[in-house]
Amino acid sequence: MPKILPAAALAALLPFTAPAAAPSAADSASDALAHDIFKQLIEIDTSDSTGNVTTAAAALRQRFLAAGFPAADVALLGPNERKKNLVVRLHGSGARKPLLLIGHLDVVEARREDWSTDPYKLVEKDGFYYGRGTIDMKDGDAVMAATLIRMRQEGYRGSRDIIAAFTADEEGGCCNGITWLLSNQRALIDAEFVLNQDDWSVMAVHGTPRVARLIATEKLYSDYQLSVTNKGGHSSVPRPDNAIYQLARALTRLARFQFPFELNSVNRGYFEQMADGVAQGQEAADMRAILRDPPDAQAIARLSRDPDNVSVTRTTCVATRLAGGHANNALPQRAEAIVNCRIFPGHSKEEIRALLVKVINDPQVTVRYVADDGTIADRGTDERAVTPAPLRPDVMKALVTLTRSTWPQARVIPFLDPGASDAKYTIAAGLPTYTFGGVAVDRDEVRAHGRDERVAVAEFYKWNHFFYRYVAALTGP
Ligand SMILES: [Zn+2]
Repeated sequence: MPKILPAAALAALLPFTAPAAAPSAADSASDALAHDIFKQLIEIDTSDSTGNVTTAAAALRQRFLAAGFPAADVALLGPNERKKNLVVRLHGSGARKPLLLIGHLDVVEARREDWSTDPYKLVEKDGFYYGRGTIDMKDGDAVMAATLIRMRQEGYRGSRDIIAAFTADEEGGCCNGITWLLSNQRALIDAEFVLNQDDWSVMAVHGTPRVARLIATEKLYSDYQLSVTNKGGHSSVPRPDNAIYQLARALTRLARFQFPFELNSVNRGYFEQMADGVAQGQEAADMRAILRDPPDAQAIARLSRDPDNVSVTRTTCVATRLAGGHANNALPQRAEAIVNCRIFPGHSKEEIRALLVKVINDPQVTVRYVADDGTIADRGTDERAVTPAPLRPDVMKALVTLTRSTWPQARVIPFLDPGASDAKYTIAAGLPTYTFGGVAVDRDEVRAHGRDERVAVAEFYKWNHFFYRYVAALTGP
């Protein structure tokens, strides 16, 4: 789940005063279609264990064919019969490279007995739509499909092709979704940039939407194991060399170490926006001071007292587990700790392992890499969090304009996120990716992956109106 801003910072935001735009008749017609698609998708179980993504992709395919898309532009494909993807293309003039829209069709498992309603029925209650996938992310899929169909029916012809990929295996399973398309069907989905709808980006505080976050990069997750072994012995005759003491010294060195401060296009944008109306006083001045060249060291030090600022400007590594010894009356033969790192874009897992070795500076402390499946290796992989491309002015401009008319009191803030969406694959494949899901959610109310997942009815339709204009703004002449 994406990180959220502290409530105090949100509450301090200055409101905009622009009026909210009124929906048109064409918006309302599109809303009816978006609702029907949404209901149909929610009522198809697409979970990894019991569901079928192909059924949902095929249902969407029928919608596109019925709306007049040629069969050649609506491809149902993938290596697994139960997990096929759908790739749709709406042709433009070809003056510019295509735009790719991505949305995953699969959902996290939901059990009827855990929920107040049937998770695989779209239920409208108290101003919300309930159902598995209502916010993560069949809302976005329905809005993507409704927008493409609306554009087709209106005879829209932009300056670039618009490609939409509805995919498998984001929540669970492996290798049949966006990663498969990137490795096997790159030409079909190749684009200048990507819009990923897999988020609920507008954070509300006490019901008022305040921040619209644009996720444009993410940190890379990586675990390491620190271990010390010793011949041990009887605890009645202690020796100076002791595995637990030695590991404790290594961890103390790590605790005192701070990774270097780093800026990229995304956290620059974040601090610019925060300094301009969100943060106040000394904090706002410090945020401006760290953006200067060279950055002000004292301002960095002051801002770094806040863990939220540290997490967006540095790699972080922290001890999360500890084990050692085998008996109360024996000298420990082994002590080990797990250190969890969140790697700043630009660095690899092996680079950070090598740096930990230097920081700990004790050849008897072994630092190994722990892969996601638990396998332990002497060396980390070369996988790295990709340094983000500059924020696209056209994407920012469209988001800021539409956010002002949709949630007048919210501000667009570029965000660097720990992240776990398919954007990490498209970014790694060299496709700049901007993640934004246009529904407002109260910051304490996020139910994605949980029970009674829901989206506010009004937000679903706002998102539908927003998205049509967003895509049009980025594909116009
Ligand atoms: Zn998702």
